[in-house]
Amino acid sequence: MQNTARQTRENRTITVDFQNEATYCQLMGDGKAFVEFVLAFILSCGFQLKHKAMCRDGGGLTRHSHYLRVRLGGVTIWRLQCTTCHAVFTVLPHFVLRYRQMRPDVARDALLATHGGLSLELCAVLYHISPMALSRLVCAFGHHSLVTVLTRCGLSLPTYFLADEKHSRCLTAKVYVPTIVQGRVLWHLGYTTEASAAAFTQSYQEFQRAALHQEPTYRVRGILTDGFDSTTKSMRTLFPEARLGYCLRHAINKLPGKLTAIASPVRKALRSQFHTLLYRARQRKSLRVFALGQRLRHFADHVTQKAGVANGERVRRWFQEKKTGWYAVLADPQMPVTSTLLDQAHNAIERKLFMMKGFHHPKGSQQAFLTGLAHLYNLIPYQRRAIHAGQCGVEVEGGRVPTVDWFLNLQILTSGGFR
Ligand SMILES: [Zn+2]
Repeated sequence: MQNTARQTRENRTITVDFQNEATYCQLMGDGKAFVEFVLAFILSCGFQLKHKAMCRDGGGLTRHSHYLRVRLGGVTIWRLQCTTCHAVFTVLPHFVLRYRQMRPDVARDALLATHGGLSLELCAVLYHISPMALSRLVCAFGHHSLVTVLTRCGLSLPTYFLADEKHSRCLTAKVYVPTIVQGRVLWHLGYTTEASAAAFTQSYQEFQRAALHQEPTYRVRGILTDGFDSTTKSMRTLFPEARLGYCLRHAINKLPGKLTAIASPVRKALRSQFHTLLYRARQRKSLRVFALGQRLRHFADHVTQKAGVANGERVRRWFQEKKTGWYAVLADPQMPVTSTLLDQAHNAIERKLFMMKGFHHPKGSQQAFLTGLAHLYNLIPYQRRAIHAGQCGVEVEGGRVPTVDWFLNLQILTSGGFR
């Protein structure tokens, strides 16, 4: 089973929005106008071409360029070459998919249905393509890093984020999907076959590596987890300087499980009192950590009183174990408080994985497939609430996308020829 994405080959393909096919055909006849159009488009996106490392001239290459034509599916494709470093850029018009016969409008509809939770098989029937072709398409986009695409949209690397793993299945084996979320955006969607701290560290390290490659001074200030041991350990290993908090909502949901052999109304009452306690601790403007420590001690006494010594002790020990994580949440006002947004992302991804045999294909690249799904999650405009209606996750977080067409954005942002 292949659980890492295949190495992306050095490609300098760029997808360019020519608005319509007629404009493209017109430009075919005029080399100078073609180059100017392409450069204007790149400029409008705020991108730069990826020249070879030693090229000093990068960016101002218009006049030195020359081009040659090849045929792809009956469409003439042009290439631009930098005369300084000889890097060759293949210019794909927006109506052509790299290496694929599939028309972008078909791919767009099929991927949208996929994102909506329709199985690969049903999408394939609806859009007259093979399920495998659709699965490969998702993987093809998944070979491009989330960090690259998101930073191309102008998003800064997350200073505070949520981290957790989704438990899933690949055929009969248990698998895990380590995830990093910031707001409405997925920064990492990994894949491991073990739940060990070492396995999670390796997966989260892929994000760290990509982030440091993008921004060598990148530092994380705060991370929120549900307090699962392997997650906590892997975060400490990778981001030792970051504040590590535990989700407060998760804590509230866990409390009833610590209370055994008591009547249900008592358990419910204690849960609701614990909820109030954490809520009040958050409301305070100052001395939040001090206040929480004191209240936790009182609450454990209260549990002993209402539910007996054994329950009181269990809750006290549990507080002892988790309180630093709760303190961390209260100590920094910028820390995320609950992992709700991560749960929502997980639920969205889970709906797809559940229905997708492509994911469970033993020879498939699970990592690439997951990353492909994460791109869809970030770029498809799915926001329903009025305040962000019609926006994609990237836009909700303040990012910029090149065009109004999400699928064209996906093509452009995953182009290998941009820097
Ligand atoms: Zn060059």
